[in-house]
Amino acid sequence: MAVQVLIVDDQEPFRVAARLVVEATDGFEVAAEVETGEASIDAARELSPDLVLMDVNLPGISGLEATQRILEEARAKRPVVVLVLSTYEAAEYAPQAAEAGAASFIPKSEFTPDRLEEAWAAAAR
Ligand SMILES: [Mg+2]
Repeated sequence: MAVQVLIVDDQEPFRVAARLVVEATDGFEVAAEVETGEASIDAARELSPDLVLMDVNLPGISGLEATQRILEEARAKRPVVVLVLSTYEAAEYAPQAAEAGAASFIPKSEFTPDRLEEAWAAAAR
């Protein structure tokens, strides 16, 4: 079964771009797209995705806080991998993403099927 992916981004062009990357990657499928951190927590609870692509800058709670809460809730149920994506450079957010429990930080400009597969494989190890 394909890896089920939840896309979280407040900007439609980025959701479209993320969906294209997921659809272009063998073995990955978009489960849902949401626009806020709050909605991502609900969607993760309802859909139990395998992987969450999480934007950092969101209206309401940040993607980093949403990451922590999704991972906390999932701990008792089934594992979920969160990849944090941002338009900002890795140096700025990578440490915070790691602290929030994210498996990787990927700048949006570098998000490709290869990076997606690589990050998923690294998280599975
Ligand atoms: Mg954003």
